[in-house]
This record gives sequence, structure tokens and C-alpha cells, in this order.
Amino acid sequence: MTEKTDLLIDARWIATVSPAHLLEHHSVAVRDGRIHAILPSHEAHSRYQPDEHVRLPHHLLMPGLINLHTHAAMSLMRGIADDLPLMRWLQEHIWPAEAKLVSPEFVRDGTELACLEMLRGGTTCFSDMYFHPEAAAEGVIRSGLRAALGIVTLDFPTGYASDATDYLEKGLAAREKYLEHPRLRFMLAPHAPYTVGDETFERLTTIAGQLDLGIHIHIHETADEVETSLRQHGSRPLTRLRQLGVLGPGTVGVHATQLNQQEIDMLAAHGCSIAHCPTSNMKLASGATPVMALLAAGINVGLGTDGAASNNRLDMFQEMRHAALLAKHTNGDATALPAAQVLQMATLNGARALGLEHEIGSIENGKQADLVAVDFDHPELMPCFDPISHLVYAAGREHVSHVWISGKCHIADSKTLCFDQARLKTSLALWQNRSEFR
Ligand SMILES: [Zn+2]
Repeated sequence: MTEKTDLLIDARWIATVSPAHLLEHHSVAVRDGRIHAILPSHEAHSRYQPDEHVRLPHHLLMPGLINLHTHAAMSLMRGIADDLPLMRWLQEHIWPAEAKLVSPEFVRDGTELACLEMLRGGTTCFSDMYFHPEAAAEGVIRSGLRAALGIVTLDFPTGYASDATDYLEKGLAAREKYLEHPRLRFMLAPHAPYTVGDETFERLTTIAGQLDLGIHIHIHETADEVETSLRQHGSRPLTRLRQLGVLGPGTVGVHATQLNQQEIDMLAAHGCSIAHCPTSNMKLASGATPVMALLAAGINVGLGTDGAASNNRLDMFQEMRHAALLAKHTNGDATALPAAQVLQMATLNGARALGLEHEIGSIENGKQADLVAVDFDHPELMPCFDPISHLVYAAGREHVSHVWISGKCHIADSKTLCFDQARLKTSLALWQNRSEFR
């Protein structure tokens, strides 16, 4: 007696992540967008009668990658100001360019471009922080990805909003509009301790409690940020944030390159997560996040790309590899961050940080079928004795062959299926000709 199912995927290997198993010659049955069963392929073939049967004889199937920190729309500003330190990069290039360019159209098109890049590279969910989250939502919905969009808040005016109240009202209105959307959620996103004042942080803390919202914030990105805070507030940023009630289990701190042991203990005690962005930290010479000490303290650490203007790839394969290499390099310890641990950071830990660990982040029964197949039938990935090692150290986003989100196929045999690339390319040509970039 066979059972009906929507989709059956046979794979050479399945990296389930939780539990951290590498299954061989197994299949995933998908029903109503969720993972219904994981079982040996020969059993699956006699048990299921699928509407669609995908055979992946040379592939590794893994959970969709989760980009825990980006500014998606900045993909339109890729490469406009390279090789500069953070504050000069922001003050002399990025903020002036944003003042001239940022509009709902800019954010919608830039977010859609970022989504296409991420999708092609096996990223199925991302956490974003940018202006006009309502326009970012349109880009995400068109793309089919899953996202946690930031209700960005600053204490100075931009083309988007005039003051903290205006930022909050606009961001909360966007959240209200998309409250029922199955692939979207919102977080409060105070930009950083140096751009948001005490009074605004107190308001945000109250709103976070009332609406049960997480908080997404850059923290301790550079040594300069910490010194400025000591001068202006008489305390280091994290101490100030703790006093203002910002730290909690829903808080995702981004970067955290400058931490002492007391601050690591503080982050652990409050249950905060950290979004580690190794490429951005290296490119802006911000410092190296003490990932091993954070993990030793029991802190949940996920991976992020940061925006395309400071990376310049929204490529989670690159982040996995850089995280592993940077941890070994900074600790003088080749055993630091082995491949399986890095894969967990790029998937399940990202889900935990977003409060989505019961929905995504691993291949487990009942979770959303957000799945990515990596094709190992390439000379540079042969022979293969340890698929997880290949995934982190040898493979790249160019090897992604299939991507499903909630069981819907978005990439098949490396071809993008549901994306209107012609329309996106037309709008990118218009952005290419805008004089404000020069
Ligand atoms: Zn950032």
C-alpha cells in the first residue's frame, strides 16, 4: 500500500544538521510544504507515490542557509567605496550616497537583486536591516525567500524618516501590513549604540516587550565605537545597552569584534545571539569576533554577510569558509571551528537567533521544506571522502543545483525558475545609469 506525497527527493547524502547526521542514500518526503519523513531511499520508493520525484545521485541535500545579517538593498551600491575603514566608509561615501538615492524603488529593486543572489547561492532566509522595510517586503515577496525585516531606527533624519518616532511609526506600519504573511516577520532594528540615544532605546525595549519582537543591532563593531562610547556615555556600549534593558534572548548583536570576558559572560547571561560577519569584519579591518570564547560561554552564534557594499558577496558559502579559517588563524589553533560546526552556525544557529528553530534550520520531520542541493559531480569536488568538509572548504555557491522553500522549487538544475529576471535586469540597467553613484 503506497502513500501519496507531494515531493520525494532522493539524495546521495543528507546533512540533517540536527541531529548532526550525514545520511547516505536517503530520501526526504515533502507534504504541504513541510518535511514529512526522512528515510532510506529504497524504503521511500516502496512507501511513497510522489507527485514529483527528484533524484539527486551526486548531491548533498542540506537545510537552506540563513544569512543572519545583511542590508539587502545595498546590493545596488556594491563596489562604490572599497578599501576604507568603517567610519570613513560610512560618513564619506555610504551615508551621502544613501541621502541621494534611497527611495522605496531603490529598496524594492535592491532587495530583489539581493534575494536573487542569495537564492542562487543556497540562502533561503535572511535577517535584514534597512530603510523602507515595506518596500523590502515587496522585494522579498516577489523573490519567494523568507526574511526577518528590521524596523530600522536612528536618532537622526534621513530621506526615509525625520526622527525616532517617524522611523518607528513607519516600520511598525510595515509590520502591521504584513503581519499575516507566512514568510515575513519583523524585528526592531536600532542601527547601533552610536546612532541611537538612551530615550529611544528605552522606547524600543518597551515595544519589544509589548509586541514580543526581537532586536537586531550592530554592537562593538570597532575599537573606535567602544572608545567613543566611553567618552560620551562613560561606559562601554554593551554595559549601556544592558542598563537600558536592550539585552535579552530575542537580541541579535551583530559583529561584536571587541569584547572582554565580562561582556561575553553578560551576553551569555542574557541569552543574546551573535551574528558573526567574518568577511565584512576583515574587509573593514574592524577586528575578529572571539567566536570560540562566545561558543565556549554557550552563546548562540550565527553567520551573516553584512551588506554587499562591505563584503561584496551575499555568499554564505564564503562566510562559512571565512568563519572557519578566521577562527583557526586568530586562535593559532587548526582545530577551531570544524566544518560541521560552521554548517550548524550557517543554518540552525541562524534559525535560533530569529526564534525560528522550530520551523527551519535543519532537516527534521515537521519543519518547513527549505532545502538546498549541492551538486558534487564536478572535478573540483572529486573524489569525495568527507562531504561536510567539501561543503565548507571546497564547494561554492556555483555548485548549488536545487533550492526549495516551503517545498516550492525555486532553483532546479542550477536554473532559476520563479524569478522575473528580465524585469529585474531592466530596472538594474536604469540604476546603472544614475549619476548619483559617481
Ligand atoms: Zn551591518
